[in-house]
Amino acid sequence: MTLRRVALLVATVAGLVFGSGAADAAPPAAGSDGAGDSYYPQDGNGGYDVADYHLTVGYNPATHQLRGDQVITARATESLRSFNLDLEGLTVDSVRVNGKVAAFSRNGEHELTVTPQRPLRRGEGIVAEVVYHGVPAPISDPLLGDNGWQYSASGGAFVAGEPHSAATWYPVNDTPKDKATFHLSITVPKEWGVIANGREVGTHGNTHVWAEETPVVPYMTTVGIEQWEFQRGRLGDGTPVVSAFAPGTSDATKAAEARLPEILDFLASKFGPYPIDAAGGIFLAEPIGFSLETMSRPIYSGRAGNIQTIVHENAHQWYGDSVAVEDWKDVCLNECFASYAQWLWSEAKDGQDLDTRYRSTVASASAQFWAGKLYDMGPGKEFTSVYSKGPMALHALRRQIGDNAFNLVLRTWPALHRNENASLPEFQRYVERVSHQSLQGFFDAWFYGNSKPADQYLYPGSLKPQA
Ligand SMILES: [Zn+2]
Repeated sequence: MTLRRVALLVATVAGLVFGSGAADAAPPAAGSDGAGDSYYPQDGNGGYDVADYHLTVGYNPATHQLRGDQVITARATESLRSFNLDLEGLTVDSVRVNGKVAAFSRNGEHELTVTPQRPLRRGEGIVAEVVYHGVPAPISDPLLGDNGWQYSASGGAFVAGEPHSAATWYPVNDTPKDKATFHLSITVPKEWGVIANGREVGTHGNTHVWAEETPVVPYMTTVGIEQWEFQRGRLGDGTPVVSAFAPGTSDATKAAEARLPEILDFLASKFGPYPIDAAGGIFLAEPIGFSLETMSRPIYSGRAGNIQTIVHENAHQWYGDSVAVEDWKDVCLNECFASYAQWLWSEAKDGQDLDTRYRSTVASASAQFWAGKLYDMGPGKEFTSVYSKGPMALHALRRQIGDNAFNLVLRTWPALHRNENASLPEFQRYVERVSHQSLQGFFDAWFYGNSKPADQYLYPGSLKPQA
């Protein structure tokens, strides 16, 4: 991640100089080449809003060759002379905008700049079609390992990565701020099976069609090509469940996933109705360094097919998928909550006393534990303290405001921001409104600070040490 950050900074400076010159010339202007995230400013682009991706892919596991035809339906949010998409590597063969051949160029780290024959008016509909091919390659991350399109030992392939993933296999507005529906049609040789996000539309010959109708952040999209064993069912409300297991998946993992309806029922009792139109899981054989909350169907490392991980990734469907981060510095809104969902599961299903768990964690916490930040932790440090200090902060918050207010917050926040983005400071204001408490000191101590909270915030309510 260090090298990548240096490259991004250089690209940002160049982009700013370039951008201001172009903007001064005359409207319509070039759309921004970044969506302005605090940590990954080049990710995503400005000037348009995507409504739908309709991706047609042919993939040959023997040669690793992928051919793609991506149709992006979007709307211009400003007058555009040109606009950018994100694409890592791969070769672009042609681009059309609203049916007409468009000029394109590749530049920066992953920019594909598209210049239509005539400028686009603000508010105008855009249908952009990109035809491309090549051998997809993952992005290497020093903390998480490979991200994006990856190859499995079986000869198959799968997609998993955060914060970078989607641009390794299709042209995209690669930012959490631009959600869209995702339709995938993928053709693979007949001996291979396919799993992806959303609902299984059908298989015609060697072509497999999947549709995610819940607007999804690009890095939450996935596909898996493997000799899958499928497990299919329905939730109580009829929502389809499809899970896929790579060869060699243990019976214990299959038994854990078979409890998914119970897990989603439990999570719905805490977080409100399940906000996604399908459910399931993708269980890899590869022991990759992480599991990920890909929408409707989390993807699990070969090391991680256990109940606690399944609870965690499915909690993200509310906290992370349906409500996505506004900026990567808000990642606690995903991870602190998914981690606390595991605590709630242990409390409800295993009778664990969470106050005892909390106190013993405090007793054994190192200086490094307290030094970790839950907000604005810095790029490359998003996935450190949120799993350990994160659930502690939420348990302390629960004792600070009481179960009634806390449960109300947990249940109503996802509905308030459904299919949208949110920030941690917005969450603070919402908790203050619900609890009728000023919580600046509490949030400073737990979420914004990097030292052990003072006793008044460390031991609120029933957490007070017994005399
Ligand atoms: Zn997580």
